Amino acid sequence: MLVSAKDMLNKAKAGHYAVGQFNINNLEWTKAVLLTAQENNSPVILGVSEGAGKYMGGYKTIVGMVNGMLEELKITVPVALHLDHGSYDHCYKCIDAGFSSVMFDGSHYPIEENVEKTKELVKVCNEKGLSLEAEVGSIGGEEDGVIGMGECADPQECKAIADLGVTMLAAGIGNIHGKYPENWAGLSFETLDAIQKLTKDMPLVLHGGTGIPADMIKKAITLGVAKINVNTECQLAFAAATRKYIEEGKDLQGKGFDPRKVLAPGFEAIKATVKEKMELFGSVGQA
Ligand SMILES: [Zn+2]
Repeated sequence: MLVSAKDMLNKAKAGHYAVGQFNINNLEWTKAVLLTAQENNSPVILGVSEGAGKYMGGYKTIVGMVNGMLEELKITVPVALHLDHGSYDHCYKCIDAGFSSVMFDGSHYPIEENVEKTKELVKVCNEKGLSLEAEVGSIGGEEDGVIGMGECADPQECKAIADLGVTMLAAGIGNIHGKYPENWAGLSFETLDAIQKLTKDMPLVLHGGTGIPADMIKKAITLGVAKINVNTECQLAFAAATRKYIEEGKDLQGKGFDPRKVLAPGFEAIKATVKEKMELFGSVGQA
């Protein structure tokens, strides 16, 4: 059964490790993440962007697929199904469809409107037992069409949103979605430290986990990051393994064209990436 991300993240924050959010794109992706979590006895969050939701045939399709896998693959570790960077309307769509967690990305609204809409969603999510992630300060990167250097959130604004009763808080600390540019300045630990001092027990979320050096990830966890989003890295691993299979001409040998064979190397590559991240984040054995 899907669970809210609340308990797993509070436990992670108290235990000084982080739970990975791995974005899913299809059945293979979902199965790879769930099996890896089970094999490593780790809690896990499946992230679904609005685009991926549409691609996979809608939120209800995803809920059906994930619930089916939890039962049939005998997944017993805590699993949350989470809307990533949700708009106000899509938060409600996912709540209705049976997601166990949503992110309301109100970072583009003026702070007053972000507060008002977040307040309303806190109430609805509490009533229905879902976890809610809020964002303060936009997180740069590919989303904006250009690669930005990553903004830093205002710690006071973070406190204002945290005090509304959200489950977890994403704040820009110089992180970026997608690949990091060569001249990236790194994470702002000064900002992270200031945010944690004001928001105390609130689990903090680090977006754009792909390509942040391991030592920076570990330091961020010591400063209160309890959820780390990984998306691009699984995509790169999947694409590289699939490319290798095709370039080696394996699809042309025997029944190598069978989709179950074509997608197998990418599936294994996602599993390896997820395992590596779970080890880095310290969530192995924490289910
Ligand atoms: Zn993000």
